Amino acid sequence: MITHVIDGEARKASDGGTFETVDPWRQAAWEEVARGTRDDVDAAVAAARRAFIDGPWARMGYAERGKVLHRLADLIEANAGALAEADTSDMGKPLTDMLGKDVPRAAQNFRFFADHARLSTADAYPMDTPHHAYTRYEPVGVVAAIAPWNFPLMLETWKVAPPLAWGNTVVLKPAEDTPASATLLAQLALDAGMPPGVLNVVHGNGADAPGQWLTEHPDVDRITFTGESATGRAIARAAAANLTPVSFELGGKGANVVFADADLGKAVDWSLKAIFTNAGQVCLAGSRLYIERPVFDEFVARFVSVAEGMRTGDPRDPATQVGPLASATHYEKVTGYLDGLAADGGGEMLCGGAAGDGTWIVRPTVIVDAPETARICREEIFGPVVTVAPFDGEDDAVRLANDTPYGLNAMLFTENVRRAHRVAGRLRAGTVWVNCFFVRDLRAPFGGVGDSGIGREGGDFSREFCTEPKAVVMEL
Ligand code: NAD
Repeated sequence: MITHVIDGEARKASDGGTFETVDPWRQAAWEEVARGTRDDVDAAVAAARRAFIDGPWARMGYAERGKVLHRLADLIEANAGALAEADTSDMGKPLTDMLGKDVPRAAQNFRFFADHARLSTADAYPMDTPHHAYTRYEPVGVVAAIAPWNFPLMLETWKVAPPLAWGNTVVLKPAEDTPASATLLAQLALDAGMPPGVLNVVHGNGADAPGQWLTEHPDVDRITFTGESATGRAIARAAAANLTPVSFELGGKGANVVFADADLGKAVDWSLKAIFTNAGQVCLAGSRLYIERPVFDEFVARFVSVAEGMRTGDPRDPATQVGPLASATHYEKVTGYLDGLAADGGGEMLCGGAAGDGTWIVRPTVIVDAPETARICREEIFGPVVTVAPFDGEDDAVRLANDTPYGLNAMLFTENVRRAHRVAGRLRAGTVWVNCFFVRDLRAPFGGVGDSGIGREGGDFSREFCTEPKAVVMEL
């Protein structure tokens, strides 16, 4: 049974209610999960508040907190197998990706913020008058963290590490499809010496359920949310009632622009990673590929030939590159876009489509000739599906890339350094990757413009959200 973790204890739901989590490869329930009630949410928030007010966490200092967070990172590494298996069982991500990327990054999230918070604590302002002023970055209190299912462990650690590092307490609500690694994480945190009540986990759904109740809770000081843009809108409305500040990492429809002067081999390789990693269930996916006309045919031929050869199948097989989609509902959603291609504006599928073997696998899918107005070009599909279109020159590329309500990220490929800087400056996105994809420095801002989010995470950007900067002015 996957329990809540409240006040340092594994707890069932207050009314004994449960739901099942389904392994999308085996298409069978693999574990029962506590179904959170309002009482569970209230208990978790109250435990977090007590731990914040009465417990040692907010007062123990950066060095001591940092030691606990580093010990937690050690334990994440030591328990990599169990954590990887938890997410693979819940959402079908290839186990090799979990072990090679998600789990190491989860540990890195804690190590980075443990160290960064310690080095990023105060500013001083010598004044012309006989005074000086300085800032104190004080923890805000109880932070609600609401996470999606596509990178469960990795994103949950990215959500909770900054508030914890700056001395806050947290209630984490994982996605209902991926509950297992969050409970393991909270148990490891206790083993690492984190005091009870500092990191609490409540399971259950979002709307009319623990997710929503947390965002409406008057005793929550901050809401950090990663998920769909529509959910962000609902949470913003709930948060407004209590004037609770929010940080939102939302959906994306990333443009990937390849100029004719690019290193084509490199561009093909990165572009494949940008859309087919994690079966395309990536907010940052380069799902709109724009290729400059002189190299369009060559690029598409090379891209399709590799895409067709990608290994799909059992996520526990080390050879698998693309596993099943995370749930039956999500499989219906993604295949719905492909089935409706003609009715929803047009487009020709060069390769891919549903595997059609009873699994929830969609093979790497490449679509050309879809008009810009087609649903498939406008909406976030969140599957291994890319539309490819030609462009003519820089202005056309920028116009196409920016023609979206989203603005999380964009990629561009060129060997011309002036063009690289020029176009990077014109793309409307929170992150622009030039000749690469998904390379991160955790000090840099991460977030989106437009429908892709509110606020930025990473380094000092997380500090602004996780603390109340206080000015102290002293007469000398
Ligand atoms: P989702 O919005 O359906 O759910 C995310 C979380 O919100 C879940 O825990 C869910 O239970 C909860 N939730 C749902 N309705 C709620 C409500 N009314 N109030 C409070 N909580 C509620 O998103 P998802 O399907 O789990 O995740 C996929 C989405 O997340 C995609 O749009 C993807 O682009 C986005 N995403 C963004 C980033 C980023 O960094 N920008 C990263 C990963 C995923």
